[in-house]
Amino acid sequence: MSNSSSGSLKKNTGIVMESRVVGEGDAFIRILPSEGEVASFKIKGIKKSKTRPIAAVEPGSLVSIDYYYVQGKDTFNVKEIGLIQRFDQAKQGYSGTVLVSYLVELVSSFLTQGGAHPQEYKLLLAALKELDQDGFRPVFLPFFKLKLLYAGGFLSKELQCSICGKALDEMHSCSLEEDQLEIVCGECKTPQKNRIGLVRFVETCLNRRYRDLKDGQISLELLRDADRLSNKALKPLLGKKLKSESLLYEVMGEKFGQIL
Ligand SMILES: [Zn+2]
Repeated sequence: MSNSSSGSLKKNTGIVMESRVVGEGDAFIRILPSEGEVASFKIKGIKKSKTRPIAAVEPGSLVSIDYYYVQGKDTFNVKEIGLIQRFDQAKQGYSGTVLVSYLVELVSSFLTQGGAHPQEYKLLLAALKELDQDGFRPVFLPFFKLKLLYAGGFLSKELQCSICGKALDEMHSCSLEEDQLEIVCGECKTPQKNRIGLVRFVETCLNRRYRDLKDGQISLELLRDADRLSNKALKPLLGKKLKSESLLYEVMGEKFGQIL
């Protein structure tokens, strides 16, 4: 093949978001790259290849790719694919596999087609590394989902009253309209239920690092509330119900026994 027909050779690194192997073992993958736009790729004969590990086309794997870029195409042919990290520890056991599938499906559905998503890439990569190195903690899911909402521009780090603009740390009580994540301070409206604890926790997640929170004493009730709240906020943004969601909560009930 001449260069003009195969396109210009480019390199990238990214996380496999979706994958299917068809026919003679050709794989089609969708990648969230460290740089540039989300894109789809075709890898010929992945099943038969000795140099291309099948784990490289597994959702959640971090891979490097050399591919032929052709302007106007929506799927690019891959010359070489290399597995950088499979996150074996994170994916260990049934619950680990389900959790990683859920994270990847969640982020994949969250991304708008096309555009560049460096923040979401960094967040997902950090989450996979964390699970791989230090395992799951109950704070993981609400923390991850709140950060994802922030990365997508749906949450601000400075939460305030939607009526008078008063900052959260000046409030003693507040109500929370969950669907719009709208906060109203106790002076503007007497809350039926004071949600200041939950709203403070949301703000803490947005402003702090995971390592500062993961070993903290946080009540499971608060974590459960924050998890439900983040699910509610994400739902209209995903466009479809996640296949792995019910599976995840089923598994968590048994294995982790804490979030639900
Ligand atoms: Zn107010």
